[in-house]
Amino acid sequence: MSSQSFSADARPRRYLVTVAAAVIGTLISLAAFVAISKWEQRIADLKLHEIAGNYLQVLNSDLERATEVLYPLRAYFDNSDDVSRREFQAFSKDLRKRLNGLRNTGWAPRVGRAQRQRFEQWVRDHGFPGFEIWQRDADGHRVRAPQRDEYFPVLYAENQSQQVLGFDMASPPARAAAIARAGATGEMAATPPIATLTKSEPGDFIVFMPVYRREAPRSETPRIPQGYLCGIFETGPTIAGILGARPLPSGVDVYFFDPTETGAKRSILWHPSRTRTAPAQQPDEAAMRAGLHASGIIRVADQQWGVLFAPAGEGAIAPSNAIAIAIAVLIAGLLMTAAIVGYLLRSLQRTLRLEFLTESLRGATAELQRESAKVARLASLDAMTGLANRVSFLAQLSTAFAAARQHDGRFAVVCLDLDHFKDVNDTLGHPIGDRLLQIAARRLIGMLKAGDLIARLGGDEFAILLAEVCDRDAIAAIAARLIEGLAERYDLDGNAAHVSASLGISIYGPATASAEAMMIEADLALYSAKSEGRNGYVFHCAALDSAVRERVRVNDELQAALRNGELTLHYQPQVEVPSGRINGLEALVRWNHPSRGLLYPGAFIPVAETTGAIVGVGRWVLEEACRQIKRWQAEGLTPPRVAVNISAAQFKGAVPLDRQLRDTLAQYDVAPELIEIELTEFALLESTKANSDTIRRVRELGISVAIDDFGTGYSSLEYLRTYRVNRLKIPQQFMTEVAIESGDAAIVRAALVLARELGMDAIAEGVETPEQLAFLLSAGCRNVQGYYFSRPIPAEALRPLLACGVIQRAPAPPVSKSARLVG
Ligand code: C2E
Ligand code: MG
Ligand code: MG
Repeated sequence: MSSQSFSADARPRRYLVTVAAAVIGTLISLAAFVAISKWEQRIADLKLHEIAGNYLQVLNSDLERATEVLYPLRAYFDNSDDVSRREFQAFSKDLRKRLNGLRNTGWAPRVGRAQRQRFEQWVRDHGFPGFEIWQRDADGHRVRAPQRDEYFPVLYAENQSQQVLGFDMASPPARAAAIARAGATGEMAATPPIATLTKSEPGDFIVFMPVYRREAPRSETPRIPQGYLCGIFETGPTIAGILGARPLPSGVDVYFFDPTETGAKRSILWHPSRTRTAPAQQPDEAAMRAGLHASGIIRVADQQWGVLFAPAGEGAIAPSNAIAIAIAVLIAGLLMTAAIVGYLLRSLQRTLRLEFLTESLRGATAELQRESAKVARLASLDAMTGLANRVSFLAQLSTAFAAARQHDGRFAVVCLDLDHFKDVNDTLGHPIGDRLLQIAARRLIGMLKAGDLIARLGGDEFAILLAEVCDRDAIAAIAARLIEGLAERYDLDGNAAHVSASLGISIYGPATASAEAMMIEADLALYSAKSEGRNGYVFHCAALDSAVRERVRVNDELQAALRNGELTLHYQPQVEVPSGRINGLEALVRWNHPSRGLLYPGAFIPVAETTGAIVGVGRWVLEEACRQIKRWQAEGLTPPRVAVNISAAQFKGAVPLDRQLRDTLAQYDVAPELIEIELTEFALLESTKANSDTIRRVRELGISVAIDDFGTGYSSLEYLRTYRVNRLKIPQQFMTEVAIESGDAAIVRAALVLARELGMDAIAEGVETPEQLAFLLSAGCRNVQGYYFSRPIPAEALRPLLACGVIQRAPAPPVSKSARLVG
């Protein structure tokens, strides 16, 4: 799955959570908004109802108290036979002062049709000459009241008496109705708010109270009132007085209405909250009822007024507060939701980004792993041949070994080395050498099965893991086939070459210790095949192991010998013939082995050369030779030049030979002319510039350089031209048959000529017989070394010879070859 498709698939699901959070957050905010606004409204509602309840009571009781002012007036009438105008006015004035809103009080006696004239006359006679019973016509003009059964003309009026005197209270219908109800019940009855004679607006209500004659029987026949006391109340001031005495909490509007009426007549009074700054418009009742409100009924005499209480914006009851709080909560909720959603979105984006990065990283890691695998594959191959390299061969060998261990498997390891491949490199050049290796690799692939593993370990060394074989004959057949195949002619860019191969074979067996052990075994067998003359194969066997063990033992002992001073030097004189003058000595190392007696170099030098111990031995020999020279000189002797054998490892060692020689000579204060170094042809095998420089620097120190055993090692004479040495040492093996004019004699002569031609000295080694000496003399060789004059002898034994300086033929018969080797 790609990173893009991964993210695309995951995104809708991830966004669901965010959407759900947004929806839930919004719903919770809305629910909180509704709950708070409802709750606030409910509280406002309760508060309003509580206020309404209280004030309905207050209004009821205070209005009752207000209208009840007519009772004391009636009582006055009840207790007096004839209440005079002055008495009435005085009494009722007092009442008006006490009661806010009471505008006027009046006394309207009942006048029957028959009594009208008399009554009118009586009033005229008592100070009101123009008196008559009157009323208003439809246009509002004063007219004489028409004939009817009874009249209730105002006789006394506490206030504005002139204006109202004689007005028939029962003439307008609303008053007539109230008078009728009062008369019928004997109790007070009120008009709705109406216009009065002095006020055209219907802002007053009139309460009528029947007054009965004192003597009239109370219970039998229905009583006819003798007149009506009336109180004219201004609605507004009356209510304002009540609500002024006990102020309403701020922020409450009160609306009074007549529940029995509709339209314009319905409205009685609008009492706005005192918190209202501007004069408030009387509201529509329906609108009030639509909002938060409380309603109730109050009694005004026998009338019922409806009252509506409603909050008026600011104040004690402010539902708008609730809305504001609810809106604030809603906004806060929505903001919180937005914040949460924002946070979720941000973290989601971060998560998605992280996932994208993780995916990218995973992709990159996979790519890296593929690349690493490619690199590992390449790293496991040998670049030149395309075969496995050493590391991968050893790894696969370990795997094969472990598998064989577990499942009783069979396989063999072959170490293969091309014989004298170096010659091809030296003579035809490295690129051609590389071509040969590539062809050899292809031939190996062609000759082996697909399951076999072929590797190039380095240089001309190959290794083969032969799978599924353990039969010695079968493996021998394969080895023979490989040798034969590799020995075929190589066509190298026009050059033909023949190269043989040596093989060492190790077969897996239950006793095999490890994969590494198999490699060592195959290597040992290869080493053995090489020493046996190359171009063949050798199976690893126990004898090879013991040879190795022997090498290890000797090496250990040799290290101890160096520490314990078990090594010693014998010196063999080099003699000038025929004078017999000792003109040189060769220092030859011996080992006083604690258990095996005196050992000759053949017993330990080759081992020391393979293990590297030879470097320490060589250093010791050089130092010991110097010490001995100094000892002889200290004894007053004049030692001739001492030749020291230098091994290949010493010559090419980490410390340059010239520096080693210079330091040692300086340390022992030995003149360089007293030292000669002997290098074998093997040491000089690679005629490199470094080698030639070393020799030059050694010679520059004043030290003589000789080539030991000339003609026995590497057959090329190239190095003679490259390395300018002082002399050649003709080996003992050429001496055997020189006296009888054999091939050896020819070689010796040729060597002597070569030396002479190249401006070098020559010395013959291994001279044992007078015949050999005679031949050498005849061939022009005047320097000899051999048993004929002296065997190598300890330094002390040499002392008389050095003192004499001349040596004659040795008295003792020559030692046989075998005796020489074992000491
Ligand atoms: P080399 O350097 O060629 O030494 C001469 C060898 O020939 C000596 O054997 C010597 O004893 C032997 N020899 C001398 N005259 C005669 C003779 O008339 N007849 C016969 N049959 N042999 C004669 P040695 O001492 O056993 O040494 C063998 C080889 O060991 C030396 O051959 C040299 O290559 C090596 N060697 C000896 N000492 C040292 C050393 O200190 N360092 C190194 N690197 N190699 C040494
Ligand atoms: Mg020598
Ligand atoms: Mg020699």
